[in-house]
Amino acid sequence: MLPVLIAGAGPTGLTLAIDLARRNIPFRLVDAATEPFAGSRGKGIQPRTQEVFEDLGVLARLLAHGGPYPQMRAYRGTEVLGDHRLFEPREATDAVPYPNGLMSPQWRTESLLRERLAELGGAVEFGTPLTGFTQDADGVNATVGGHTVRASYLVGADGGRSFVRKTLGVDFLGETIETQQMLVGDLRLTGLDRDFWHAWPGGSGPLALCPLAGTDTFQLIAPPPDGVELPTLAGLQELVTAATGRADLRLTELIWLSRYRANVRMVDRYRVGRVFLAGDAAHVHSPAGGQGLNTGVQDAYNLGWKLAAVLSGEPDELLETYQAERLPVAADVLGLSSRLVERDAAEGIRRGKETDQLDISYRGGPLAPAGWQSATGLAAGDRAPDARLADGRRLFELFRGPHWTRLEFGTTSATPELTSQNVRTVVITEESVRASYGVPEGAVALVRPDGYLGAIEVSARAAHTVG
Ligand SMILES: Cc1cc2nc3c(=O)[nH]c(=O)nc-3n(C[C@H](O)[C@H](O)[C@H](O)COP(=O)(O)OP(=O)(O)OC[C@H]3O[C@@H](n4cnc5c(N)ncnc54)[C@H](O)[C@@H]3O)c2cc1C
Repeated sequence: MLPVLIAGAGPTGLTLAIDLARRNIPFRLVDAATEPFAGSRGKGIQPRTQEVFEDLGVLARLLAHGGPYPQMRAYRGTEVLGDHRLFEPREATDAVPYPNGLMSPQWRTESLLRERLAELGGAVEFGTPLTGFTQDADGVNATVGGHTVRASYLVGADGGRSFVRKTLGVDFLGETIETQQMLVGDLRLTGLDRDFWHAWPGGSGPLALCPLAGTDTFQLIAPPPDGVELPTLAGLQELVTAATGRADLRLTELIWLSRYRANVRMVDRYRVGRVFLAGDAAHVHSPAGGQGLNTGVQDAYNLGWKLAAVLSGEPDELLETYQAERLPVAADVLGLSSRLVERDAAEGIRRGKETDQLDISYRGGPLAPAGWQSATGLAAGDRAPDARLADGRRLFELFRGPHWTRLEFGTTSATPELTSQNVRTVVITEESVRASYGVPEGAVALVRPDGYLGAIEVSARAAHTVG
């Protein structure tokens, strides 16, 4: 089998590589950079991505290294204006085991993804840019690191400036908002505690210093100074002292710094023949709401099992569903993050369910035509909720891995668990699980490898009994 060529080893490319590796699909993961990305920028891991990472075998180490978001403390100069939570912490439930956002600097998340990939026998080829490609009916010829490779498919996970997207001639529709710029950097400093996300909302623009969970560093967000693209540590010190009025707050080390320019753009196609776009290569937007990395990870998670299935003989049409399912999600994310920018400016930063990505659904799409809806509102295309079984196991443990899962809601567990043809069949006798799924006895739910309901159905007899 020819390998899948993945261009770009950010969070999107790494996730796809892990998913292919655990399915024994050959791939090459190349990155133009000579070394791993060193910045914290995408630091918010949303609840749905935590579930994805659990399935991929990454979550435990992410939880060990990451941590919760601290409260925000707002100041005017040295005066404390007040504290508030970014979001109200929610209790874990059987259905939603990870209800709260997790903070993990992007460099660490990527490093843990590389660690998991290495366990599966894979590695990033750094210093190996994709510099050209052509495609025909059977594959892709690509030049990587100066060598020609033949691949079954090419996935452009090569970020907002995507070479793959530009070479395909796919438009990046939307706008660049020149007036929205900010410095984002990682620093060591003295004079501030790590219990709060310290913010100075007034002045020449908001300045914030967020203690990065699992590190001794802070993420700085600051208005960019005029006349200089990236200030030095001394220049940043001036900015910070002017905004905070605190002579005791000393920046001691600058680890990474970049200048962010707001782009709100997305493609109108995720696929051209045997070439796909994923992550920032397909959609970019404001960091408000912490959606970008998460959306890229979930693009990859949607594409991985489909690529594997088609390479194993399923019809190519399955790959068409990638765009059909993920393009509307990106459009929603662009809208959401733009709304949050306005709301944050007017009301301060508060987050709720709208950013947790648990309600993303592929309902009505090509793999989930409109159909029966359960008493708790579940329908094909929705995320399959977790639940606790009588023997202590969780449904997510049954889902974990590259297979489909068929849940048969019955009364007897005499039927042994069965895995055949990539489908694991489990009889669910627990009434509590039936209640949370809102289904009568006799119902069947088919859970896709990416944890969404492929079907949820009830036999005619069971439907009659219920209703
Ligand atoms: C200030 C800020 C804060 C953010 N906060 C959040 C947040 O809290 N939560 C969140 O979800 N997101 C956040 N984001 C967004 C997040 O950082 C991005 O969405 C994420 O990095 C996208 O991942 P990616 O893998 O698609 O692309 P990237 O991370 O950009 O990775 C692309 C990779 O492709 C490589 N590459 C480029 N060209 C080539 C080529 N020709 N050949 C081979 N390799 C190539 C690059 O070297 C790079 O490693 C934030 C962004 C910013 C700027």
